[in-house]
Amino acid sequence: MSLVVMKFGGSSVGDAERMKRVATRIVERKREGNRCVVVVSAMGDTTDDLIDLSRQIAGSTPPAREMDMLLTTGEQMSVALLAMAIRELGEEAMSFTGWQAGIRTEAVHGKARIQEIRPDRLLKALEEDQIVVVAGFQGLTEDGEITTLGRGGSDTTAVAVAAAIQADLCEIYTDVDGVYSTDPRIVKVARKLKEISYDEMLELANLGAAVLHPRAVECAKHNKVNLVVRSSFTHNEGTTVKEEAIMEQGIVVSGIAYDKNIARISILGVPERTGQLAAVFSALAKEKIDVDIIVQSGIVESQAEFSFSLSGTDVERALQVIENLRPVVGFRSVTSETGLVKVSIVGAGMVSTPGVAAKMFETISELGISINMVSTSEIKTSCVISGERLHDVIQALHTAYGLDTDSTVFVGGPSDRR
Ligand code: ADP
Ligand code: ASP
Ligand code: MG
Repeated sequence: MSLVVMKFGGSSVGDAERMKRVATRIVERKREGNRCVVVVSAMGDTTDDLIDLSRQIAGSTPPAREMDMLLTTGEQMSVALLAMAIRELGEEAMSFTGWQAGIRTEAVHGKARIQEIRPDRLLKALEEDQIVVVAGFQGLTEDGEITTLGRGGSDTTAVAVAAAIQADLCEIYTDVDGVYSTDPRIVKVARKLKEISYDEMLELANLGAAVLHPRAVECAKHNKVNLVVRSSFTHNEGTTVKEEAIMEQGIVVSGIAYDKNIARISILGVPERTGQLAAVFSALAKEKIDVDIIVQSGIVESQAEFSFSLSGTDVERALQVIENLRPVVGFRSVTSETGLVKVSIVGAGMVSTPGVAAKMFETISELGISINMVSTSEIKTSCVISGERLHDVIQALHTAYGLDTDSTVFVGGPSDRR
């Protein structure tokens, strides 16, 4: 008998009919002889709708504590309904909120990290042959405050619960049937990956691939959780995320990710002085503003220029922080640009294959698009570009790296694979 954690995302439980279908799927798994813990997200667009509602009442900066109180109701609704749907099919089921499930988080509203899970109640219910249904995306602080884990965080709940109860398998059921070489909604000929390594998946998730929450992948890697992404709607084989995945012959880039909500800020005419970069980026960090790619241009007439990319959501706050530094840093002016995107290629084979990044730059420039910023690591290259032709860029890169399902995978030495 295996212990399986099954996680269902919002679109999989979008309405009563889908909820019933998911219940059937769970009961099927139970009747195969498994013990099942189910983690579920809020139905359909519930979380977005609740955010809209809060904006109508409290504008763009609602109190973070109340926001978590509001958003967690979405998942609470789902667990109760799903437990009812399972019981309708003749199996015992019991729903739990995050705090009932013993999920402890740090005291940060909106994007708390799970610190500990005390799964006693879950284990007791499993002993009683119940199907256990846990609300995703939420937890409780040491002081009894309700928190959320950040958008898409139900994946993380599932993996963390799987680690805590030492489940044999954690299955992420979603609206696509696995992890693809890129978002299959953008590239119709995207290739489904049979396997992907934790490291590559972590890069893809961090770089914007919504199919898995980055912290879920981090937690799976750390705890060696057996993780599979598969479809809620079909029985197709999914994608296994594991320590070391077999690479298809000749495939150097295994995936392409994008992040649509990118902005750039440039600080011009910064007087040459030690500690200037530190002053700017410490002040941003203090306000918990994540900065991504940082570029410092050469010094001309004792003045430097700093540019950095960040999430479009944080631009206004970042500009305010920088403006407050004007008397200290003494820069000439600040400019900003929104509506940018970050496109990234990821592949464990990149490190040993020359010319992979060059091919990315060539492909983008052949489309007549200029590249604003670049960053690289051993297994990824990212370019920040204007957002207008994102789909064309992703498609062109997908073809250029031989990832289209109808293309022949190139084989041979590194020079052939450039
Ligand atoms: P859920 O509600 O089940 O959590 P999400 O919307 O969070 O589902 O994630 C699934 C979506 O991720 C897919 O519908 C797809 O558009 C998107 N996606 C982005 N990149 C990829 C990728 N490389 N492979 C598969 N899906 C991807
Ligand atoms: N309901 C939350 C969200 O929409 C959490 C999740 O779906 O994973 O972000
Ligand atoms: Mg998701």
